[in-house]
Amino acid sequence: MKPHDGMYIDGDWRPAAGTETIDVVNPADEQVFATVPAGTAADVDAAVRAARAAFRGWAATPPAERAARIAALRDALAARRDEIAETVTAELGAPLPFSQAVHAGLPIAVAGSYAELAATHPFEERIGNSTVLHEPVGVVGAITPWNYPLHQIVAKVAPALAAGCTVVLKPAEDTPLVAQLFAETVHEAGLPAGVFNLVTGLGPVAGQALAAHEDVDLVSFTGSTAVGRQIAATAGAAVKRVALELGGKSANVILPGADLAKAVGVGVANVMSNTGQTCSAWTRMLVHRDRYEEAVALAATAAAKYVPGERIGPVVNAKQHERVRGYIAKGVEEGARLVAGGTDAPRERGYWVSPTVFADVTPQMTIAQEEIFGPVLSILAYEDEEDALRIANGTVYGLAGAVWAGDEAAAVAFARRMDTGQVDINGGRFNPLAPFGGYKQSGVGRELGPHGLTEYLQTKSLQF
Ligand code: NDP
Repeated sequence: MKPHDGMYIDGDWRPAAGTETIDVVNPADEQVFATVPAGTAADVDAAVRAARAAFRGWAATPPAERAARIAALRDALAARRDEIAETVTAELGAPLPFSQAVHAGLPIAVAGSYAELAATHPFEERIGNSTVLHEPVGVVGAITPWNYPLHQIVAKVAPALAAGCTVVLKPAEDTPLVAQLFAETVHEAGLPAGVFNLVTGLGPVAGQALAAHEDVDLVSFTGSTAVGRQIAATAGAAVKRVALELGGKSANVILPGADLAKAVGVGVANVMSNTGQTCSAWTRMLVHRDRYEEAVALAATAAAKYVPGERIGPVVNAKQHERVRGYIAKGVEEGARLVAGGTDAPRERGYWVSPTVFADVTPQMTIAQEEIFGPVLSILAYEDEEDALRIANGTVYGLAGAVWAGDEAAAVAFARRMDTGQVDINGGRFNPLAPFGGYKQSGVGRELGPHGLTEYLQTKSLQF
């Protein structure tokens, strides 16, 4: 795909209001390979006006017709699957097979799920003598991160469109090309002009302008807790709705009696996937004291198989490269035992990090509390189930987690007591229809499936 030098607004590519640009860097070798325009408040304003002008018409479009347009969008994405994968590999650094399976495959599946949900969702119900209408919220400002760049876009835009909302998207500055590709597929799918608009740009400029815009009704944000807090404050001042999908420090709890080799193997794979840049990654592995050293040895062996450049890519940018290796240094400094990886970069050029495993991590350590967002696993020992539960629930986050046990009922009973939005039991498969989102500081609201759709609706009651 040839990068666009304008913004996709009101159904067309328009010149940007300003002259600043953003360099797009390949994190594998630090080469700048494209530039895109850096949007200003004027671009955001033009995009919001287009979305507002399109809103009534799109909201009044019968759900079956909205569903047909989303199905066409899904088809347009599927037709460009290889190009999506290549684009994400170039700007994020993920190995191509992973980009094909996940960075392209997942958003195509999610778009498909909303084509179905738009057609079947109960937008009206009768309660006593009331007809309750579930109506679209209005103009949505979507601000997305770089870690699963197209998935994060589709997980907001598809349900918003299904609900009858119109959208202005500000994607991450590191991954703007797949966002431009997405805008092209929206165009190919024949969505009416103004229903979807794209402004590439920097967070504190374009992102801030979008979050603060008085004609945006709902801001849906995924990213760091620090920026999420700021966005919630800005949106709260204008009494607009927010949906926040923030960080995590999820626990992988391996109970006595579990298949240890399987639990550790899947746990390491979960952390190393996407170079550890997954908000729901199980970055804390909790193992009973009796089998602790066995688990540590298994994890170190499993991590060594993640050869940088083969099974695992670089981290996204220079800032994250510094930050992730800073956390590894902090782990060593605070007394954790390094059993795989470390601070040495495996290659001279590019933002490479060695897959790293720490043992003897205690719950108070920085690496057991803060989100690292890199290929770094912390293994903690627990004494009994109550201790495991205290450790699992003992962070400010609550996004995801896992429980392994010999007895499924015991694992489910433990999962019920975890303060977290999702728990996989004995390696339960990812479900793209299950609500995804956080307890505590991991966020507000849910994405995916029918729960993701209701985020974009508001209710009206008619009594008769
Ligand atoms: P940010 O939270 O800064 O970025 C997420 C999105 O918000 C990007 O589009 C960004 O734009 C935008 N943004 C940044 N500042 C503002 C602002 N003031 N107003 C409005 N929008 C803004 O994440 P980072 O990329 O800096 O990553 C830092 C850390 O955040 C990671 O190490 C990780 O811990 C966490 N994170 C969590 C994610 C998740 O999935 N929950 C995803 C990504 C990061 P721009 O790209 O220009 O900065």
